[in-house]
Amino acid sequence: MTALKDRAYWLDKARQLRIEGRAFIEGAYVDARSAETFSSYSPVDGALLAPVALCAGSDVDLAVGAARRSFEAGVWSGLAARERKAVLLKWAALLEAHTEELALLESLDSGKPIADTLGGDLPGTIYCLRWFAELIDKVHGEVPATDPHFFGTVTQQPLGVVAAVVPWNYPLLMAAWKFAPALAAGNSVVLKPSEKTPLSALRIAALAMEAGLPAGVFNVVTGDGAVGRFLSLHVDVDCIAFTGSGRVGREIAQNAAATNLKRVWLELGGKSANIVMADCPDIAQAARSAAAAIFANMGQVCSAGSRLLVQRAIVEPLLRELLPAADDYLPGHPLDPGSVTGAIIDAVQFERVCHYIDIGKQEARLLKGGQPLSQIDAGAYLEPTIFLAEDASARIANEEIFGPVLVVIPFDTLEEAIAIANQTEFGLAAAVWSSDLATIHTATRQLKAGTVWVNCYDELVDMNFPFGGFKESGNGRDNSAHALSKYTELKSTIMRCS
Ligand code: NAP
Ligand code: MG
Repeated sequence: MTALKDRAYWLDKARQLRIEGRAFIEGAYVDARSAETFSSYSPVDGALLAPVALCAGSDVDLAVGAARRSFEAGVWSGLAARERKAVLLKWAALLEAHTEELALLESLDSGKPIADTLGGDLPGTIYCLRWFAELIDKVHGEVPATDPHFFGTVTQQPLGVVAAVVPWNYPLLMAAWKFAPALAAGNSVVLKPSEKTPLSALRIAALAMEAGLPAGVFNVVTGDGAVGRFLSLHVDVDCIAFTGSGRVGREIAQNAAATNLKRVWLELGGKSANIVMADCPDIAQAARSAAAAIFANMGQVCSAGSRLLVQRAIVEPLLRELLPAADDYLPGHPLDPGSVTGAIIDAVQFERVCHYIDIGKQEARLLKGGQPLSQIDAGAYLEPTIFLAEDASARIANEEIFGPVLVVIPFDTLEEAIAIANQTEFGLAAAVWSSDLATIHTATRQLKAGTVWVNCYDELVDMNFPFGGFKESGNGRDNSAHALSKYTELKSTIMRCS
């Protein structure tokens, strides 16, 4: 019945929260060795939430050292898969038991609406953890056919120390997409959350200990980008799994190449095309879905449908449905259970989005929104914004804005739509709306994207589907059994038997 609790309930609960801001290394909360902290503010109203440990290279060394020792000692990596599974399931149960507290912490730290964190981020995180826990004792090796004098196996072994560097838009969920498969596979993990949203990662570390994860197996180091850089340069880190911007992803890959060639997995940005053909089965539904695709989570979604490609014959009817549908995503106070969207993460991101809106006004037609909303609280709130761009080469039609800004681009033929969809450097997601099987088949095959939806958008609640990008949207995939393989090495063992 949590959905019915009102803003006063959450505000009261927020006042009672005891927020942990220390790093978590080798099973204990610790200050940065320098004792330095940074301030974690809430995007909801700009209030100070907690001082948080500002880790430096020496703290990263401690965390990586703890992870390495735990890995080599075999306290986790050496357990039977079903024993690791039992601990991870217990951790998931503890996360579930603390859903309200964690959802509140996540909303306060990120500005996301409480309905989203309660209904999306937390259940998604728990589902991910359970899914990989359940998978791990069902993964088998291979026994290739060989010369009868030999017997051989192909097995997967954990890599060792996995560093996870994650962004602020789904703080806990993006972290879980890395640490769940990495831990399930038997690795030890050092997690670096964004300095903008470090609090939920710190809180779940205590629950990991309570669940029975041995000390050193799961560590959380807090601080700014420098902490991620230390991890990418660290020669005792075997793998770095990253979600974030292309700029930082490139730097991480370079640092890995310059040091120990640690494995690098990158989930980067997107500028995903949502293509609506004139024979779309339901224009109103396509419009509502298109609004959700870009305005949910204030547009701060890597797979957001930020480009709406509409076949010219239905531009007018689609816009008639789309413009009012956008009003469903007007932001509200994040702790009001009725709010569908909340605050932009911080002033920097807010300025960035506003800058793109200014660019958009020069190169396209503003159809809706574009204004900040100051009446909610002291945080940064922005209207859902829609542009119509006749020119598909406009900057707002190609660069990732990462905010509530939709660009509608008319086109004439399917061929043209696919060319526009594929013209950016990204390739994370795409969608096509049509009633024609040949159109759907052509589009799904030709769209260069890791996920393609047909007559829907953003349906990715199932962990069985890999998630990630073509081209400069990254490499490797989160979720699914494929993600487990990212955190293992294949070993061929060949025995002469006779
Ligand atoms: P970001 O600036 O790249 O930051 C991501 C993470 O990297 C943060 O923890 C950040 O720490 C850290 N970092 C910053 N500089 C670093 C460096 N030099 N070396 C190592 N780590 C460093 O990205 P963001 O602005 O937080 O997130 C937005 C981007 O993420 C968008 O491009 C979006 O599309 C992408 N994203 C992709 C996916 C996906 O699955 N493909 C999902 C979500 C988001 P600090 O925050 O403390 O600086
Ligand atoms: Mg914050």
